[in-house]
Amino acid sequence: RQRPLWLFGDQLGRHFHSAGGAPDRPILLIESELALRRRAYHRQKLHLVLAAMRGLADDLGDRVTLVRAATYREGLRRFGRRVDVHEPGSHAALALVERLRAEGMVGDVLPSPGFALGRSDFARWADARSGFRMEDFYRDQRRRFQILMEPDGEPTGGRWNFDKDNRQGPPRGAVTLGVPPPWHPRENGVDDQVRHDLDLLCQESGSKVVGRDGPRLFAVGQAEAQRALRRFLDERLPTFGTHQDAMLGADWSMSHSLLSVPLNLGLLDPLAVVEAAELRYRQGRAPLAATEGFVRQVLGWREWTWHLYWHLGPDYARGNRLRARAALPAWWRELDPGQIRAQCLRKAMGGVRDRGYAHHIERLMVLGSHALQRGFRPDELSEWFAASFVDGFPWVMATNVIGMSQYADGGIVATKPYTSGGAYINRMSDHCGSCAFDPKVRLGPRACPFTAGYWAWMKRNEAELADNHRMRQPLAGMRRLPDLDAVIEQERYRQG
Ligand code: FAD
Repeated sequence: RQRPLWLFGDQLGRHFHSAGGAPDRPILLIESELALRRRAYHRQKLHLVLAAMRGLADDLGDRVTLVRAATYREGLRRFGRRVDVHEPGSHAALALVERLRAEGMVGDVLPSPGFALGRSDFARWADARSGFRMEDFYRDQRRRFQILMEPDGEPTGGRWNFDKDNRQGPPRGAVTLGVPPPWHPRENGVDDQVRHDLDLLCQESGSKVVGRDGPRLFAVGQAEAQRALRRFLDERLPTFGTHQDAMLGADWSMSHSLLSVPLNLGLLDPLAVVEAAELRYRQGRAPLAATEGFVRQVLGWREWTWHLYWHLGPDYARGNRLRARAALPAWWRELDPGQIRAQCLRKAMGGVRDRGYAHHIERLMVLGSHALQRGFRPDELSEWFAASFVDGFPWVMATNVIGMSQYADGGIVATKPYTSGGAYINRMSDHCGSCAFDPKVRLGPRACPFTAGYWAWMKRNEAELADNHRMRQPLAGMRRLPDLDAVIEQERYRQG
């Protein structure tokens, strides 16, 4: 008799529940009330996870036991049989699994099929080098899995990297990118039931749940995830990349894949996703730069992020090299764009409130950059990103929030802080034309909070940044500013 397999809410695809050719293995799912209430989650995120779990229970019928319990432990106790489990997605969840294993409730801890590369393989890769860069890892991933590779061992097209083609601002004068719309689901009875249960949860827990409810926008079942993937590959992959770093106020999804939700819920197998993208290129249905850009995100960045989370350990999340001490303001915690006058920030925060989603450059160069400049505590910010985004999970936060966006690790992940003045946002978006502020102005009522905030932040952190050769030029620019003291004084009291 096969031991049942306990799946967490981010382990819901076929490659999890039928791993190792076990299509009949009994499955246990636990809806833990404690897990749902642990943080101030975005309502749409809770909706997605619950709908995905209940949808799987419906799809697999008798094979699944879905237990609603106060905690995971109580759920296991009620289920009454020892279970196996895949490696979970956070240090805290792994510690719980290990405790349950010591108590005999959990048997084997199986490798996670949610990533192409296994953790032991990454450990071998990392141990064999002193320093490591995402670019080296990515090239090895391409070689290892033979994605966009030629028989002579060279990368397809003779280049590993098409980033230069992929960093363009928005098309001049465009209001939207004008690409085919992303796939969106049609809600069903499971959504109705989840919405009803979440109404009850919100009533009971007061204001703890954040964000607006709204029609479900992302895939939650195996069939939906495949449909979302197919739509992206057929209609949006050809334009992926070119304007990847651009922002348009009237186009929240641009040509992004919107696949982070089904990927992070474990519904899509990442290797199958990049293989399908490569096939589109080989069939002449997508350009190489776009395909390489997408493969880089999924087989490169996503895997790198997962492995560094484990490799760098739990202490990494407590990094705060720039000694940022400001608490997250209420308008951040409540996802309230109402008082924000900077157009780019208002749009990005509005997207988080309405959809639990903002695309990469809004996360990095608007929300993250603002938080860095205003000195928000990186640990609070990580919690915020993990809870407020529909695709947020602890493992994604280490490199993306602590490393890339807040430089809180002092340069382990990023070679320099990712932040800028308003000129970058102006170049990459259509926000500044209709904004109350002017990206060229750093002093006075029209002073752009990003432009002035950038210089004030740099002055505050001058000593810490002085050793970074990539900051030498901006630091020299700052020292030439005639009105720096006045800018610092002005920014001391400014919030948004
Ligand atoms: P696309 O632009 O279409 O990219 C394709 C896929 O590549 C994504 O679905 C994702 O799976 C993967 N990917 C791309 N970049 C990254 C990256 N840097 N790290 C990990 N995966 C990546 N991603 C999350 O999945 N969850 C998060 O909570 C999250 N928080 C972020 C917070 C900050 C401050 C920053 C800078 C980035 C964050 N990212 C996060 C990474 C990235 O922004 C999102 O994966 C992406 O915006 C999701 O939208 P998409 O599916 O349309 O992505």
